[in-house]
Amino acid sequence: MSSYTKKKIVSLLAPVLSGLRVYKLFNPNYAGLGHILTFHRVVPKADKDRIHNHLSLEISPEHLEETIGFYKKEGYKFLSLDQVCEVLESNETNEKFVAFTFDDGYKDNFTVAYPILKKHKIPFTIYVTTNFPDHKAILWWYILEETIIKNDEIDFVWKGKEYQFKCQNTSEKELAFDQIRSLINQNFELDHYEEFLKIIFKKSKEELYAFAKTMAMSWEEIKKISRDPLCTIGAHTINHYPLSQLNEDELVFEINESKERIEKYIGKVVEHFAYPFGKKTEASLREFDAVKALQFKTGTTTRIGNIFKAHKNNKECLPRISINRVTDHHVLKLQSSGLLPFIIHKGKRVILD
Ligand SMILES: [Zn+2]
Repeated sequence: MSSYTKKKIVSLLAPVLSGLRVYKLFNPNYAGLGHILTFHRVVPKADKDRIHNHLSLEISPEHLEETIGFYKKEGYKFLSLDQVCEVLESNETNEKFVAFTFDDGYKDNFTVAYPILKKHKIPFTIYVTTNFPDHKAILWWYILEETIIKNDEIDFVWKGKEYQFKCQNTSEKELAFDQIRSLINQNFELDHYEEFLKIIFKKSKEELYAFAKTMAMSWEEIKKISRDPLCTIGAHTINHYPLSQLNEDELVFEINESKERIEKYIGKVVEHFAYPFGKKTEASLREFDAVKALQFKTGTTTRIGNIFKAHKNNKECLPRISINRVTDHHVLKLQSSGLLPFIIHKGKRVILD
């Protein structure tokens, strides 16, 4: 089952569960102090074929407005990540909070999301992968989507092994997207990374790098947005590699060098970090320890969860709630109440691995 199918099932069940108000039972113990939301791109809906699982990296401007409206109506306080740290450090009971974070550094964060956030005075964090503005990043997830949409089959040979993925219909295309995504991250080798991508996609080096030129925020835009007190710029490594696949030196370099590079451009200290990809197989204990040792105030994953008092001592692995195309107000209620995180993590509040 593709991860989009799972998301779709949740979105179909959500109105029923939210109508039954089952989620209210979880509120006292699993809603926590608040939530950190993960966004990627905010772009108007386009009328063309897409891979739905990948499409979940994008929401429309209207959806961003609706999400803001949901938390306003529910009485949440909108906090920056620095303020989330203050809440965790203080011993007082606080109002429920929500913090908005955007991963990678897409251009539409500046052109589309920022005006909306500014209008509503919402503090937000943008985690920048520095090779995005440097135009040295390979946004292979977009190349993968484009390749799957255009082809009925993807085949290639890597290290003597033949790979074949059928992509004739929608469900095959959705599944192929998930399978090739995992293949790229699980077979990651720093020395062969670019070569592997060239072989999968049958593209030249220039073609692999072309997406970053049109989709990434420029350093000028990052500098400009960072001057707004609503904005926090966080680090998201240099290359957006799956960190679990790197050796110790490469890991520290990816984290620390991206921090220093952003600091040089914006003239402010960078104190917040998000793990690229962020699943258990892509970032875990060793990566959490590295972020803690490098003195970041927070590190955020893509594990679904709410923020609890217990996170005071585990600020290097804060879970988040991902906002995607299927996250309507019913799904938000199930996530914010703690019902969905409870099911996924079997009742655990702090996810340490
Ligand atoms: Zn990312």
